[in-house]
Amino acid sequence: MLENADSPGESRVADPMAATPEFVSGETFRYLGRGYRLRVSTGTADAKFKAAPTVRLRGPWLEVAVPRAADVRAALVGWYRARAAAYLPAALAPWTRRLGVTPRDVRITEPRARWGSCSEGSLQLNWRIIQAPRIVIDYVAAHEATHLVHPNHSRAFWSTLGARMPDYDARKARLRVLGPSLIW
Ligand SMILES: [Zn+2]
Repeated sequence: MLENADSPGESRVADPMAATPEFVSGETFRYLGRGYRLRVSTGTADAKFKAAPTVRLRGPWLEVAVPRAADVRAALVGWYRARAAAYLPAALAPWTRRLGVTPRDVRITEPRARWGSCSEGSLQLNWRIIQAPRIVIDYVAAHEATHLVHPNHSRAFWSTLGARMPDYDARKARLRVLGPSLIW
């Protein structure tokens, strides 16, 4: 589990100082550590918007087409969740393989206060982590995979993690700094 109550300072994800996006054109959103400028199109009159909202990356843009401005956040969350559902299990696989463990299942969730958790052999990963650079995502994947071996933050847990990811501390520090900007 990666949350601040459970491991002080490790991943403070709720920060009142973090800027809350307004989901308007020109704002920057992250995907796999890169920033993309949001470009919003709205318009119920146009037939193409009667279909499901569309979200796509094109060059430096994250383009969102939705019926109404109020639909942008939901469209973005849906897009990020789908990307996370494809990416995160694959990011987890090498770590579970190295540890010789198999999660009972892997679920993509949306908690505000943690990046991932492990309970009774099932792993939950916060879709928001897909905004972070790959090396940070990998840290979360390795961290949660290690919980399948040690369901705590004992010395043995950190030693098992460190044996497979020697630079985990630097990645963890990066997550701590980046974390608040990924929560919206
Ligand atoms: Zn943990």
